[in-house]
Amino acid sequence: MSASLSELSGLMAEFVAERDWAQYHSPKNVAAALSIEAAELQEIFLWREGADHAPERRADVEAEAADVLMCLLNFCNVLDIDLEEAFRRKLVVAAAKYPADRVRGRREKYNEYPGYEDPT
Ligand SMILES: [Mg+2]
Repeated sequence: MSASLSELSGLMAEFVAERDWAQYHSPKNVAAALSIEAAELQEIFLWREGADHAPERRADVEAEAADVLMCLLNFCNVLDIDLEEAFRRKLVVAAAKYPADRVRGRREKYNEYPGYEDPT
């Protein structure tokens, strides 16, 4: 992986502009498109069990993963979200919720760990 997020975001904006599709890209529509593409990715694995990672559908998985990224970048373009900044902020929040020394190897939600104190 070598392209920056801003480069990919620019490519996505160009793609939309060349097709004059911004007129259809309300926040509701682009959020729905993102969710639908994520569901298309999930559908590939539906009814598979355990470690079955659909190796014969690798090309489909890659295409759907790319669709998800395209829709996420488009969503962020439409709402003027700096995705890198939002990612970094969220990573700090997630690290505070899930301190590595406390949750390593565990899968509970942050508020299910022993000693969790509800801040409200
Ligand atoms: Mg798709």
